[in-house]
Amino acid sequence: MNLPLIIRAEEHNEKTAILVPFARRLPQQRGCANATTDGAFTYRDLLHTSSQIATGLLKNAEDLQEQRVAFLIPPGFEYVATQWGIWRAGGIAVPLCISHPRPELEYVITNSRASIIIAHPNFEGILRSLAQAHNLRFILTSETLPSNIVPLPEVDITRRALILYTSGTTGKPKGVVTTHQNIQAQVTSLITAWEWTSDDSPAKTLRDRILHILPLHHIHGIINVLTCALWAGAECQMLSKFDAETVWNRICDGNLTLFMAVPTIYVKLIAAWEAASKERQKSMSEGCAKMRLMVSGSAALPVQVLEKWQSISGHFLLERYGMTEIGMALSNPLHSERLSGYVGKPLPEVEVRLVDENGELVPAGTPGEIQVKGPGVFIEYWQNPQATAKAFQDGWFRTGDTAVVENGNYRILGRMSVDIIKTGGYKVSALEIEEVLRSHPDIQECAVVGVADLEWGERVCAALVLQGSQPLTLEAFRSWAKERLAVYKVPTQILIVEELPRNAMGKVTKPTVVELFC
Ligand code: AMP
Repeated sequence: MNLPLIIRAEEHNEKTAILVPFARRLPQQRGCANATTDGAFTYRDLLHTSSQIATGLLKNAEDLQEQRVAFLIPPGFEYVATQWGIWRAGGIAVPLCISHPRPELEYVITNSRASIIIAHPNFEGILRSLAQAHNLRFILTSETLPSNIVPLPEVDITRRALILYTSGTTGKPKGVVTTHQNIQAQVTSLITAWEWTSDDSPAKTLRDRILHILPLHHIHGIINVLTCALWAGAECQMLSKFDAETVWNRICDGNLTLFMAVPTIYVKLIAAWEAASKERQKSMSEGCAKMRLMVSGSAALPVQVLEKWQSISGHFLLERYGMTEIGMALSNPLHSERLSGYVGKPLPEVEVRLVDENGELVPAGTPGEIQVKGPGVFIEYWQNPQATAKAFQDGWFRTGDTAVVENGNYRILGRMSVDIIKTGGYKVSALEIEEVLRSHPDIQECAVVGVADLEWGERVCAALVLQGSQPLTLEAFRSWAKERLAVYKVPTQILIVEELPRNAMGKVTKPTVVELFC
């Protein structure tokens, strides 16, 4: 069997798959005759260039046999062609993160035991020296590609395809391994639930067009946006990096149908909208109104952000919950009513259950750990059988996240390790407290954490980013909070910070927040 995604590409041959509005053209010496001046690439281009890349990777071998190929390439056609080239040669793709410093890149390269590194010339400095230090084959994307394509291996769908590194809350990141089959399941579940369309779909609906602005070393950008678009026969317009004005310009152009982002991106887009002239605001809002779906995920969406975005765009954001290990698991509905603060119900082909500390199912209304089963669930942590074994209970993946089901909908309470704070015998959710604190007129952003304490077990502490120059005393803050939260949930210590520590996905890194209080 060949790779499912690539088989579908053959169906869509002549269609534009990737549009790279602001990217440079591919260098001539890469021999990609189909690269056009406006940076539009068809599935035919992808099939051709990826088979050249696969040929180059194989050298004289018949199959890479799951060798790991680490690559660092800015968003655009070259990134996708390289990912497909690795897959078509029978390798495992290990995307690296553009914003990572050398030690983190080195960790991923050595932990995955990559044998080949592919780098865009922008990253040659760091990556060539890493390849030399570890005696690995090094390929620059600007090198000439072979013109004679060799027969490519038949890659079974059950083979490993991708290793993504998760930013663990404790210890070093782990490599999450998914097969082609897992990826297919993750993608088809979203295609069904969110009704991705192509103009050759039976319903003859409008072809979807999505703007890609997310990092390409993370599941959200790789699976939910890029791979779903390619699977569906949609058009994926890739920006080389996130920039609020550029994103708004593309939205104002008015031909996008879908948009997916993390909450921090919506916050930045809201700030840019607020700073714009009345006339521009109108055109920004009109651009949003033309889309059929806007999605948020990867971190909790503050209700204030959801409401503000609704007033700007007319869209009630569809919030979903997922994880590198499982793909997407829970989603608000596409058509019926979405509830703010909730992530909806299980997606197609995904089974979800909530269990207590003893692994017993909890009744509706009682918080429990989210466990997930289904064909999209990863197969293992790379070369870490102990961590893999610990992550499963009777075939269910233990997400480490806590949720509660209310009126049939899931509400995420946070990660058990950092967001569920055990204080004075109570268990409280940091996410719930944050939601309340953000309604304080002087608080712009906040992160609530539990800090070890002899008397309370953990103390509830809050790092706050203030808006305006008004000082905020602990006393005034606590008396405001006590009117809105049970007293044991009210932070006993606050710290005013300029900004919250965040990772490359824009998620607050809670362990770093805890350190601020130690
Ligand atoms: P990652 O593997 O980087 O995508 O991170 C997955 C984690 O992000 C999950 O385990 C959750 O803790 C968190 N997460 C994802 N989506 C949501 C959401 N809608 N609300 C709250 N937390 C979320």
